[in-house]
Amino acid sequence: MTTASGNRVWFITGASKGLGRAFTLAALEAGDRVVALARDTAPLDELVAAHEGRLLALPLDVTDRDAVFAAVARAVEHFGRLDIVVNNAGILHLGMLEEFTEAQARAQMETNFFGALWVSQAVMPHLRARGSGHILQISSIGALGGFPSNGMYSASKFALEGMSEALAMEAAAFGVKVTIVQPGGYWTDLYTTGLTATEPLEAYDPLRAELQKQWAEGSVDSDPRLAAEAVMHLVASDDPPLRLLLGSMVYDLAFDISRRRMDTWAAWEEVSRAAEHAIPAPGDPA
Ligand code: NDP
Repeated sequence: MTTASGNRVWFITGASKGLGRAFTLAALEAGDRVVALARDTAPLDELVAAHEGRLLALPLDVTDRDAVFAAVARAVEHFGRLDIVVNNAGILHLGMLEEFTEAQARAQMETNFFGALWVSQAVMPHLRARGSGHILQISSIGALGGFPSNGMYSASKFALEGMSEALAMEAAAFGVKVTIVQPGGYWTDLYTTGLTATEPLEAYDPLRAELQKQWAEGSVDSDPRLAAEAVMHLVASDDPPLRLLLGSMVYDLAFDISRRRMDTWAAWEEVSRAAEHAIPAPGDPA
């Protein structure tokens, strides 16, 4: 059974702005208590003052594994328990794969993948002992497939999803649920001040120009409060899904990409099936 609204304790990373802040506000509006994690907690000061006793803001850089474990321990000590954990902190480093420095590529993975892994590892002993809990992994439209100039971001979110599918299966026996949330476009700082980019190689200028045209024509950005509303529906469910798409654009794209994948697999079925044939292992009696 899910814990009733108004009585839940949330742990939300990257809560200073954007989607994380919208999730924090929605949880507070529902009467819940929140541990809001941010590298800089100053943007949360007003909220803390306005929700005395129900909002604990703690500084946390999710790439620091020891700090993650310490923050989780502090959160549990403060509110006595955790019910909903939102791995939301994320960065977007745009660029063609050839342009990435090693440090840039690793930084993308450190926050979007390892940060969520450390938080998942740190909360699991607590949720497992309680026999309940719901971990939300904020993934992306970028994990539906790879897109030019989004390769490292997609890689980080694919890694997050692979890890989270396994976690969902490992955690199920302990009553802990995992949902991979796949948002489309929302008005946040991810594409403005939160964005970093590689040093551009001239050879990719035509592709970059084409992409910019496509984004200008095709991007649909929504109010983060709509994502928060969907998340509130999700956490109220006794049987939450492994994956939840947020937005019509990402919904249509998911079906389109899945169909194209199935068509390609079907077109190559003969070759695929021929690559498997039971033969005795070396040393087995014939
Ligand atoms: P924002 O840039 O507005 O917010 C990102 C948040 O993550 C900030 O609070 C930021 O804190 C925090 N953060 C970044 N790095 C770290 C770190 N190392 N440790 C702790 N916190 C960190 O972006 P969004 O709100 O859009 O992004 C939230 C999540 O949603 C991300 O995982 C993103 O990939 C995902 N997403 C967003 C989409 C969108 O359209 N906006 C679409 C698909 C997915 P700080 O202020 O310290 O930088």
